[in-house]
Amino acid sequence: MLSLETALTLGNISETELADLMQAASDVREKHWGNVVTYSRKVFVPLTNMCRDTCSYCTFVKHPDHPDANIMSPEQVLATARRGEDQGCKELLFSLGEKPELRYEKARAALNQLGYDSMVAYLADMCQLVLDETSLLPHVNAGTLSDDEIDQLRPYSASMGMMLETISRRLTQKGQAHYACPDKVPVQRLRTLERTGQKQVPFTTGLLIGIGETWEERVEALAAINEAHRRHGHIQEVIIQNFQTKPDIAMANHPEPSLDDMLRTLAVARLMLSPEISLQAPPNLHVRHADYLAAGINDWGGISPVTIDFINPQHSWPEIDALAASTSKAGLTLQERLTIYPRFLRNHDVFMDPALVARASAMARTDGLAKHQVSGDLV
Ligand code: SF4
Repeated sequence: MLSLETALTLGNISETELADLMQAASDVREKHWGNVVTYSRKVFVPLTNMCRDTCSYCTFVKHPDHPDANIMSPEQVLATARRGEDQGCKELLFSLGEKPELRYEKARAALNQLGYDSMVAYLADMCQLVLDETSLLPHVNAGTLSDDEIDQLRPYSASMGMMLETISRRLTQKGQAHYACPDKVPVQRLRTLERTGQKQVPFTTGLLIGIGETWEERVEALAAINEAHRRHGHIQEVIIQNFQTKPDIAMANHPEPSLDDMLRTLAVARLMLSPEISLQAPPNLHVRHADYLAAGINDWGGISPVTIDFINPQHSWPEIDALAASTSKAGLTLQERLTIYPRFLRNHDVFMDPALVARASAMARTDGLAKHQVSGDLV
């Protein structure tokens, strides 16, 4: 494995050094993940687009005064879930802004109308609704979580996620990406990583690169994730996501990370992280995403045949058939996985609430990947 000290020196490397790094990362991928590259066929449910944070790159969030600000009703959640079921999805991913009710009266009132005083309590009930009414496995991306909030969600969510994004405190200063974002203070996110580990939740996290962090800060964030995994064994995947500029964000003129920067970060992540942690990069945020395979990734993340990428709505998902073809061209095979990775399903006594085990096990074949592999894009 690559040490932190060595990784810190790789901020500026030649083309040849990058090629060597990528080869070493690919070798690790091959040794631990074979020739299989996975994805999760999922439907996305943006439960609320209100949020108490104001990240400078976000287009998802809507101020409560905006006409499009909303909290989805149970009926809307179920209607979206059913569209996912019809298209062979196995996972329902709840994504939502962080705790808008703590900052905005209008968000509190909207939640109260639904009969709740906290977004996490509503989320837990919506997960239960999905479990009761559909065949899908819920995964929640609810941001920073307290111990109590994790306890509320764990019985109904097969896995959870929160992008660490960065550990740079500098980026919380005025004019930076995370100014006025209480949930993006790095220590808060590290605490959630730790708490979900203590509570044995299969967890997805990752970095958002190119938002103003230095190479050193990026590498230190990877080291922090790996340390949390070393303590608790709960990190199932790490996503490396590249910042995307958009015309209507505060960071509209901020440069996007280059492809080489992305490849270098992926390769270093593959070499620094425990090899059992899945390494993922989104395929819809770079036209040359197939190159990521040569930098050691083994997963394309969630792809929806039903819903758009709500976080990057200007970048549609690639067709699953096309992704299978480009994966195959690299000598690898695309396979469908569940939201919970095989290693955690095998260790369900530790990592799963008993209520979820029967459903997840019935959805998995003996190697832990999805039993019913849907071929390509149904639509
Ligand atoms: S990126 Fe997430 S935390 Fe930041 S403003 Fe958007 S919804 Fe809120």
